[in-house]
Amino acid sequence: MKIYLDYSATTPVDKSVVKAMFPYYSNKFGNPSSLHSFGQEAVKGVDRAREQIAWLLNCQANEIVFTSGATESDNLAIKGLIKALLKKDKNKKYHIITSAIEHSAVLETCAELEREGIEVTYLPVGKNGLIDINGLKKSIKNNTVLISIMYANSEVGCIEPINDIGKIINKINEKRLKEWKNISPKSRGDKPHEIYFHTDAVQAINYVNCDVKYNFIDLLSLSGHKIYGPKGIGVLYVRSGVPLSALQLGGHHENNIRSGTLNVPGIVGLGSAASLINKSNHVNINKIIAGRRDRLVVGIIKNIPEVILNTDRSISTPSHAHFSFLGVEGESILISLDLEGIAVSTGSACASGSLKPSHVLLAMGIKEEVAHSSIRFTLGKNTTIGEIDKVIKILPPIIKRLRSMAP
Ligand code: PLP
Repeated sequence: MKIYLDYSATTPVDKSVVKAMFPYYSNKFGNPSSLHSFGQEAVKGVDRAREQIAWLLNCQANEIVFTSGATESDNLAIKGLIKALLKKDKNKKYHIITSAIEHSAVLETCAELEREGIEVTYLPVGKNGLIDINGLKKSIKNNTVLISIMYANSEVGCIEPINDIGKIINKINEKRLKEWKNISPKSRGDKPHEIYFHTDAVQAINYVNCDVKYNFIDLLSLSGHKIYGPKGIGVLYVRSGVPLSALQLGGHHENNIRSGTLNVPGIVGLGSAASLINKSNHVNINKIIAGRRDRLVVGIIKNIPEVILNTDRSISTPSHAHFSFLGVEGESILISLDLEGIAVSTGSACASGSLKPSHVLLAMGIKEEVAHSSIRFTLGKNTTIGEIDKVIKILPPIIKRLRSMAP
């Protein structure tokens, strides 16, 4: 039996989700833009999914925009907002704040905007991967229009202080508006622009509160395949009133924000997967997964010398255990485990498969050679104690053998 410990990369589609999607490939195949009954049947499926996701995020159904995945959602949130603001005044010099440990969909989008004249501040993180709230406050400028901070990190699992960030932004926005209102209408000029808050919640949504109102979130990215739903489907939550320009044009779908015929089976699947997240019972589910993760951590630390746990469990999702096994290449461990039927991910190579150490680990102050010896274990709702015990048994001789072969 194979053991899958790479739930952060992707999750298996839940059986009930497959069942919900199936009719939309065959009987209910209509195009939701069509006015006839076939089209309207597809619209019903899409509307239901919109409601299911809106329930999860505590927002209105018309604030949900379907995309091809979180990469697109991140691009649309950041570029779409700046494009909309520049449409109003193309000479304004805007400023974005993000963190050094974001997904490349955020970092590369920000880098592109930087080349186009937008100023970007990349907040550093501490050893545990968390940004410093005071540092964030200090970096806010008069021309800051967007703060994009991920909810939970995909590599080490640290959960950023999203609620605190949301509160700070909301307070500043309220203060600016109040000060503006106190100036006489004749001399006060244009209303001050808001600072908008985007979060990539892809790795968080299974485990933490993603209520957009409670967290003062304006834009939120989600992906179907990380929540036991299908691949190639995602969501961008766009709070009503947030300016956003489309990046791809043509079909006027999704309120003119995202053109393209809707992926109806994918959308139905994403809605169904969202409805499986028990947002009122996160604590219990988290306890079960964290219990298994902690068993793995204790087992590894007890049985393998010279190992560093890079995940700070006190501030991370219950799914993650990221280790550096000193003196061994992460890739060699991954291949050896794969030969035993155990799937994990290297903690060092980035998504492109390049041999450069991960920007997340480097930002956390981990040395290059230590980053190269990393392995990320991510557990999910199907992970069993038996599987964990098997890993604890199989891993120590692998590390011992690889260390004996190391130069
Ligand atoms: N953001 C985060 C934090 C992720 O972990 C991922 C996927 O690994 C993405 C964005 C990209 O999601 P998608 O595969 O849906 O494009």
